[in-house]
Parts: sequence; C-alpha cells; structure tokens
Amino acid sequence: MHECHQPRTDRPSPFLDGDPERERHRPAAERRTFLKVAGAAGAGLLLSAAPGAERAAAATTKRAYVVVIDGCRPDEIDSGLMPNVKALRDSGRNFARARSLPITETIPNHVMMMTGLRPDRTGVPANAVWDRTLGAERTLELPTDLKRETLLARGARQRLRTASVLSKDYLYGIFGRQATYRWEPSPILPVTGHAPDGFTMDATIEMIDQYDPHLTFVNLGDIDRAGHSDVTGGLGLQLARRLALLSTDRQVQRLVSHLQETRRWSTSLVLVLADHSMDWSLPHRVISLQPALNADPTLVGNFAISQNGGADLVYWIGSPARRAAGVRRILEIVRTQRGVLAAHDRAATPSLRLGPEAGDVVAYCQAGWRFSDPFVVNNPIPGNHGHPTTEPIPFFIAGGHPSVRRGTSSVLAHTVDVAPTVGEMLGVPADPNHPYDGRSLLRA
Ligand SMILES: [Zn+2]
Ligand SMILES: [Zn+2]
Repeated sequence: MHECHQPRTDRPSPFLDGDPERERHRPAAERRTFLKVAGAAGAGLLLSAAPGAERAAAATTKRAYVVVIDGCRPDEIDSGLMPNVKALRDSGRNFARARSLPITETIPNHVMMMTGLRPDRTGVPANAVWDRTLGAERTLELPTDLKRETLLARGARQRLRTASVLSKDYLYGIFGRQATYRWEPSPILPVTGHAPDGFTMDATIEMIDQYDPHLTFVNLGDIDRAGHSDVTGGLGLQLARRLALLSTDRQVQRLVSHLQETRRWSTSLVLVLADHSMDWSLPHRVISLQPALNADPTLVGNFAISQNGGADLVYWIGSPARRAAGVRRILEIVRTQRGVLAAHDRAATPSLRLGPEAGDVVAYCQAGWRFSDPFVVNNPIPGNHGHPTTEPIPFFIAGGHPSVRRGTSSVLAHTVDVAPTVGEMLGVPADPNHPYDGRSLLRA
C-alpha cells in the first residue's frame, strides 16, 4: 500500500465486521457508553421517535415483522436446536433455495432487505470498504452511506408506523432515522458490538406494546456472533453456537407468542430470514493478498485492500493512467493464490451489481478458507462469511394473515425481495423513481 494511505500496517485494521479484536477499536463503539450486561430484563430500553411520529395513524390492521436471525445456516433450523423456528417455518411458506447476495455480509444484505435494491444503487456493497476520500478502511455505518430510502421511511411517509430494532451498533448507525421508531441497541457487549438477543426481543415486544408499528424490522445478532468465535464449526458445532441457536429460537417464539396473545396473529405476516450463513476455516487455510501483491514492483504502493472475511476488495489507488494494467496484474496474482475461489474485475462484471465503493477487484475465498489482510495475523477468527459458500440462507414467510401461503416454494428467493414482499402486503408501492431490483414473493 501507499505509505501515505496506510495509517498503520503494524496494527489490525479497526473497522471490520465479525472480528472482536477489531470491533473493540471501532470509533462507533468508542462513542457509545457500554453498559454492563447485568440489568433486569428490559433495562436500558431506549426508544427514539421521528419528529411528528405521533401523528401517524394509518387505519390498516395489517402488521409485518421482518426478523433477521443473523448468520444462521438453513440446515441449523433442522438441527433439533431450533424447534420453534422450525415449527414456524413449517406452518408457513418456506423458500428452500433462498440466497444472500454479494457481498454476503451483514450491512449490505440488511440494506438490500429494506430497500429492495442492489448495492450498485444503494452505495452499500460490503461491511467494510476502502474510503478513497479518507484514505482508510472503514465500516459503512453512517446514515449518509445509504443513498436510497428504505421501506421504513417510505412506509412512514404513507402514515404507517415503522420501527427498527437492530442488535448491532453499525446497523443502528446506517439505518439512522429511516424508521418512525428506533431502538438504540443496549446493552452493547464491548467485544462483539451487539446487544444480546434477549434484550433485543425485550425491546421488540416493548416496541409493539408501546407503538404497535405496522412494520417492525428486527436483527438478532447472537447466532452470528457465536459463529465467529466457534473454532470447529460444521458438524462439530461448538457449545457457544449451539447455545445461541437454542436461545435465539426461544426469542423468536416469544415474538410469535406475543402476537398470538395480543390477538395480532391473524393480521400479521412474519418474515424470518438470515442475512448470510457461516463458514469455518482452520488456521492454516488463510489467504493474505497484501504480501503477494506487494511482491510485484508495479503494484507496491498502488493498491489498498478492504477485508470482509470471505471476500477481499482490492482498490487501485495509483495513477489513473495505469489503472487498467494494474487491475489486470492484480487479477493475475490473486487468481494464483491458494484458497482463492475467484477474482472478478468489478467494473467489467455488471452481474455482481456492486458499485465503485466495492473497489476494482472482488476476490472470493473457497469454502473452508478465509482472507486475512494486510497480514495473516490480522483475521484470527475461524467463522467467516462474504464468500459464495455462505449464500444459502433460511427464508420463510409465516403468520396468520390470509396473504401468507403455505408449503414449500422452489422459487429462488433473495434478501433483496423482502421490501417488495412486505411493501405489497402493507400496500406501500415501489418508488417509481427507483423501481425494485427484487420482487414480491407473496404469490411465489
Ligand atoms: Zn458475521
Ligand atoms: Zn450478519
């Protein structure tokens, strides 16, 4: 990397998802007051409302709840550890072929869910990007990073009450004031940057009781966070992940029971999905692109890398006149590295639907591998996502509303289909200036 663009090569980058050692140093985390995980259930409930929110009073009785079980694999629903989620899935419409979309990371897929748009239209392709203005890698966690309106905001303009209850502090950050009512995640665990699912569900139920939102968007982060720390993965699921599956299953059931007990079930649609799944790698299956690219004298000082676990984004930061040749050389080198599945010229691969924020070369690792840049020590965690093997996700629509179909669908569902589906159910049309990339699955 260029000397003046690389603030510290001797220290881990502070901005990446899923790496507790890095997230500890994140500026957003530093701005926040960390509360100890000790209070009674419901303690620390912070709800904020948009100005004029109390005037919203749409007459419809329809309610939609989108619940993201972050990082859950589809097979884990059938593992025996998630009996309530499995029963909920089997009571509704299951999309057995559902997939996350590139880059299969948390922030871009949550943005796709609520905008119905791909990253080349929202400006949000990954969790971490190289910010060319800043000359540094950073998390896309600012409200201004999201270039399009979400269904939360468009629904609110149609006098629907909308709510976001997001366990991860960077999701709270990027969704900003889109929803009428927002929960600020709390208590935030200092290591993982997220609030435990029990607290998130307390807040969800409190949100429903206080404001009865027409649309509620919930992220439950425990399964993902336990997955990142799991050293074995796969069949030998470690205790932390198993406990997270059991516990999150109970939290989803609390929501279902609450909707039933408060007589909302028959007017409700509950869409449950994951933003990506999870893959595990052994310590010797680590790819470091930085040293390989630095070994080429035409590249050294002319590129930057933003690491997203299973995907590395490489940016040409040298002379624009040499960019085409530089990108070709980066592609050549990256493709020869052990463990690399594929490397794409981002601008020449429109099917990726990633905009310039994703850099010039998008590299994916093979299943069972991970990227660690700038050096092999920088990503010590075994659980990662971002590469194609983490695309399959659980995705089902349940609830008592008559629009909910039953049985299994073979339709290929994607995270980007959530806004069109929920928008149609609630009667919020697409923005004519920004038509959806996804499609409604109500009849799929
Ligand atoms: Zn993750
Ligand atoms: Zn995630």
